[in-house]
Amino acid sequence: MKDTRYTVVGAGLAGSLMSILLARQGGQVRLVEQRSDPRRGSKMAGKSINLAVSHRGLHALEQVGLRQEILDQATPMRGRMIHAAAGTLTFQPYGTKAGHAIHSVSRGTLNRAIIQAAGREPGVELEFDCVCRDVDLDSATVTVQDRSAPEVRHLQADAIVGADGAFSVIRSRLQRTDRFDYQQSYLTHGYKELTIPATSSGGFALEAHALHIWPRGGLMMIALPNQDGSFTCTLFWPFTGAGSFNALTTPAQVMDFFGRVFPDAVPLIPDLADQYLASSTNSLVTVRSRPWNHGGRVVLVGDACHAVVPFYGQGANASFEDCVLLDQAMRDHPDDRAAAFSAYSAERSPHTDALADLAIANFVEMRDATASRLFRGRKRLERVLHRLAPGLFIPLYSMVTFTSIPYGEAVRQARRQWRTVILLAALVGLAVLMVLIWILVFILRGM
Ligand SMILES: Cc1cc2nc3c(=O)[nH]c(=O)nc-3n(C[C@H](O)[C@H](O)[C@H](O)COP(=O)(O)OP(=O)(O)OC[C@H]3O[C@@H](n4cnc5c(N)ncnc54)[C@H](O)[C@@H]3O)c2cc1C
Repeated sequence: MKDTRYTVVGAGLAGSLMSILLARQGGQVRLVEQRSDPRRGSKMAGKSINLAVSHRGLHALEQVGLRQEILDQATPMRGRMIHAAAGTLTFQPYGTKAGHAIHSVSRGTLNRAIIQAAGREPGVELEFDCVCRDVDLDSATVTVQDRSAPEVRHLQADAIVGADGAFSVIRSRLQRTDRFDYQQSYLTHGYKELTIPATSSGGFALEAHALHIWPRGGLMMIALPNQDGSFTCTLFWPFTGAGSFNALTTPAQVMDFFGRVFPDAVPLIPDLADQYLASSTNSLVTVRSRPWNHGGRVVLVGDACHAVVPFYGQGANASFEDCVLLDQAMRDHPDDRAAAFSAYSAERSPHTDALADLAIANFVEMRDATASRLFRGRKRLERVLHRLAPGLFIPLYSMVTFTSIPYGEAVRQARRQWRTVILLAALVGLAVLMVLIWILVFILRGM
């Protein structure tokens, strides 16, 4: 792979990390990004202001020496803080070990740090304000246009990495090739972001080391801490119908709705109605596709091949993990890029499909079940079972969030574990029943 010329399209989280990994294999990388250079002070406008980074993402960042730098700028969240409608708070730990936490970090900070690291890499050349318009798959040529110039340029390379997000130009070209599978679906819910500012003394208005959830059945609000004492809140509400984004169009409606549904949040956001009405409403898409490569010429990473809804906090983590797995596949097939890309696509895509299902299922769990006693009881039981048999029972959330077990395997293992627990419970129940019958028979015989 040495001296291979790559064009990486998209300097988001996946594209900038992948560029570093390719350069470290000896590749010559040209990274093109439609936005302006965040190192020059421009903000990487993004879909969400902060993200939860966990084991998979941190492991990938470690490969390029960025793990500690990112952790230093992140706020650990050790569990969910559930805000009931009546105002009561319940804390549910995320992990099974004392150190288990997910880390809230600003998306801009994270992306800038990886771009800075890519910029320091001798084999990486960065081009910002450069929009990819089209791609010729067979010759690995992308057509780009600089924002300041009307003419287009054709950039030819040995291979292209499509890291241009959920609405990828590179993937849309692959979609027109024979036997390419593609599926896209939107949730009936969208999202809007608000900010809870720091207190007047610069502190946190809520518990800092938790991900706050206001579950309200068909809708919910969450809040993640930022290092400056503020929280980024995200409303996940339906687009239409009662209690939807479309239903609230005036300051009075907004204040009335929040006063009824999220009363404890109202005093924390002084300009609530203004923020709500100014904040854009965004949609939530799931993308599944296969295969992620075109021979040894083109390969996809991140949301470009598998956008997932954000309810497992795994989209960015999975995108980072893609980069590590693609890097490994290329090391495993040093003389055959097509074999490397095909192996990566074939082995990885079933797992991101499993993640897509998990993420949708977790939406229902977060907005509804987290408030229920049954859910809290199940989580407690999971922790007890893990403590009793740590090698045999690991909660699914822990496998997804605190290990690198492939997503699909984690789902299968979780099912196996519950089957075993149910079987054991049934056997114990049967044994108890038999003992009781035996005692009864013994007593009756003695009479
Ligand atoms: C509300 C919300 C909350 C989320 N929270 C979490 C979370 O807590 N944890 C988590 O792990 N994940 C989370 N995610 C998911 C995460 O944001 C994505 O999975 C992640 O950003 C994917 O990274 P990427 O690099 O593949 O794509 P992107 O981050 O979308 O980057 C794509 C890049 O390509 C550039 N680009 C696009 N088209 C072109 C073009 N034609 N030419 C040049 N450049 C182009 C874009 O400007 C962008 O910089 C969340 C997502 C949402 C929507």
